Amino acid sequence: MKIGVVKEREVAERRVALNPDTVAKLVKQGYVVLVEAGAGELSFYSDVDYQAAGAEIKTELEEVWGGVDVLLKVAPLREREIDWLRPGSTLISFLSPLSQPEHIQRLAEKNITAFALELIPRSSRAQVMDALSSQAGVAGYQAVLVAAAALPKFFPMLTTAAGTIPPAKVFIIGAGVAGLQAIATARRLGAIVEAFDIRPAVKEEVQSLGAKFVEVALEEDTVAAGGYAKEVSVAAKQKTQEAIAAHVQTADVVITTAQVPGRTAPLLVTEEMLLAMKPGSVVVDLAAEQGGNCAWTEAGREIVRNGITVIGPINLPSSLSIQASQMYAKNISTLLTYLTKDGELNLDFSDDIIGGACVTHGGEIRNERVKQALH
Ligand code: NAD
Repeated sequence: MKIGVVKEREVAERRVALNPDTVAKLVKQGYVVLVEAGAGELSFYSDVDYQAAGAEIKTELEEVWGGVDVLLKVAPLREREIDWLRPGSTLISFLSPLSQPEHIQRLAEKNITAFALELIPRSSRAQVMDALSSQAGVAGYQAVLVAAAALPKFFPMLTTAAGTIPPAKVFIIGAGVAGLQAIATARRLGAIVEAFDIRPAVKEEVQSLGAKFVEVALEEDTVAAGGYAKEVSVAAKQKTQEAIAAHVQTADVVITTAQVPGRTAPLLVTEEMLLAMKPGSVVVDLAAEQGGNCAWTEAGREIVRNGITVIGPINLPSSLSIQASQMYAKNISTLLTYLTKDGELNLDFSDDIIGGACVTHGGEIRNERVKQALH
């Protein structure tokens, strides 16, 4: 079976779908791996490294895009990239299936069997293939470093001859995978950390990382199927905002990560809250690309108003490309081997991982939510 690894063409994308170590493992298992020349360059993996791992380097893009059975990628495909795919081939990548359903339709029309990494079930069994989690962990870590670099203060408490410096106060909103990694990172840097999430089940995890959990008693169910957060009512949103306002006001750093799959991110930090923050304070909004959790957020920009800095980073995992790619390669190669047997695709759609992640097969869209998103 021929596997292809292509160069990512999005400007902000530095990751690559397989690193050389993972290529070596796949080649040992009998896969033929073709790598587009320069595919690993921005993750600091050279063509020579891939060749040494047993890959064939291809300089013409059609040789990889049009010449393989399974194509592995990181960023969702652009229109013209869909054109380059060979009809009948298989694709595994992030695909933004709910926000770009028209691209999924085009994949179905080209008879591509496509697996969207966003739709891997969030279960213990699928954890090793869960690229959303591995990449969210990278983003959570990096968000704290971005905040620390922008904050005109120390994070840790320091006792020096020139006086005692109190620790920074960090407030994390949304304690999913990214939020929990942000808590752990801010604690390692010595900050005092508080965190809030509308899923009360995360309280223990937050506390076990040494942070204080901010409790808000909502009178409605906040958890949807699969353990994800639900979109809550206007009344619950208002109650949440009132409850977190005091914590935003006293924080030096606020990191927001709140998301509801398939929806615009909830607005949690209002303009009024931002105006009440201390000058010099920093907000890093990890939900920037989904509309943002904070009133001033603009995706890809750093806004400074009234002495408050609001940063809306795009694709933070990409900035740690070496290890973000390494983790992604582990996720995607495990899924690939799970989908194949004796060098052939072996698709049992009753399996929750295969049935859950496969968005197109046999010329049809297989996912009901994607079909609904088209209309
Ligand atoms: P996500 O990126 O979809 O959202 C981030 C966080 O924002 C979540 O914790 C969510 O509850 C929170 N949030 C949403 N709306 C909010 C609001 N209005 N106010 C405050 N917080 C809000 O989440 P994720 O990190 O991808 O995790 C999603 C779910 O999957 C979680 O239940 C997580 O525990 C679970 N999960 C399970 C596994 C596993 O079992 N292997 C792995 C990863 C994630």
